[in-house]
Amino acid sequence: MWLKRYLAFGPNRPLWAFLADALLANNTPASENNVPKDIRANCYLQSWTTSTSPRSSQPTDLLKMIKTGQKYGVRIQGLAFDRDILRDMPIWHHIFADPKIRRLTNSSASNCLRFKHNLQTVGEAEDLAAPLIRVNEAQLQHRSNNQCECRDCIEIQEITDCEHPHHCMLRAQELLDTLPPKWDPRAEQPADYESSFTSSSGLQGEDIFDYRLTTAGNLSDLFRVFTDKDHNPINETFVRRVQPEGNEGLVTVATDGSCIDNGQDTAKAGAGIYFAKDDPRNKSLKLPKMAGGTKLTQSNQAAELLAVKVTPELVPVTAPL
Ligand SMILES: [Zn+2]
Ligand SMILES: [Zn+2]
Ligand SMILES: [Zn+2]
Repeated sequence: MWLKRYLAFGPNRPLWAFLADALLANNTPASENNVPKDIRANCYLQSWTTSTSPRSSQPTDLLKMIKTGQKYGVRIQGLAFDRDILRDMPIWHHIFADPKIRRLTNSSASNCLRFKHNLQTVGEAEDLAAPLIRVNEAQLQHRSNNQCECRDCIEIQEITDCEHPHHCMLRAQELLDTLPPKWDPRAEQPADYESSFTSSSGLQGEDIFDYRLTTAGNLSDLFRVFTDKDHNPINETFVRRVQPEGNEGLVTVATDGSCIDNGQDTAKAGAGIYFAKDDPRNKSLKLPKMAGGTKLTQSNQAAELLAVKVTPELVPVTAPL
């Protein structure tokens, strides 16, 4: 619970969490000595680690918090995230960036970004690099040198005192280029194809199936608990150009899972899927003992999930459910 509160990014983040940020950033193993302190924002979002040794100066409470997270598999997981989340991620030592991003931290170009531009997030890097790709009216267009007097360069010089805006734009772009597409807000994302979704439920226990892959919200929504340590998250984007067309042709399906001897060693779970009387897609399913290499617990909940997993596989991908 402490970890959940610690990772509650957003306006209601408790004050102690900011103190914890500072303590975790200060108490790091010697292997992280080359990571500048000013870029250490959060070890769950970046690729530096904090001390977990009981002999370190890490406060006991924080040690416990970190250990609990490790024990229960707390980490970032999800198929896709909306751009607000991608842009809020720290850019320096971004946890999913190519490791070469670590070499881009210490250099005069990055020093300007860190100390004059006060660059911290992916979104700020994207905005800074934007004039390099944006095509404006001729007089507003950025020229590829540090003497450029486009509106963006003038503004950057005034606000940050930077003497070489073009140089810094290129470095920001270089940082962004270390991000895999799934974490790069400039790349095509599943959210680009997902129309707005209203979760207004229908009659008597009917729910509209949320087909979207994208996790929305803020940085706290990135985290999952009970993840599988041996299963590495996939960092490619999964773009599915399918948009259900409104609620036309809405398919209504009833699903249920149940379990005999629930909670006991002899438990046997199964599920039912019902479209309509004599519909060939109606199914009764037995919960398998194993899925992949994982043993499945025979339970009512697992059976419910099985029905919900199989149902969308029985209808065309474009069919709203
Ligand atoms: Zn500079
Ligand atoms: Zn310019
Ligand atoms: Zn600069």
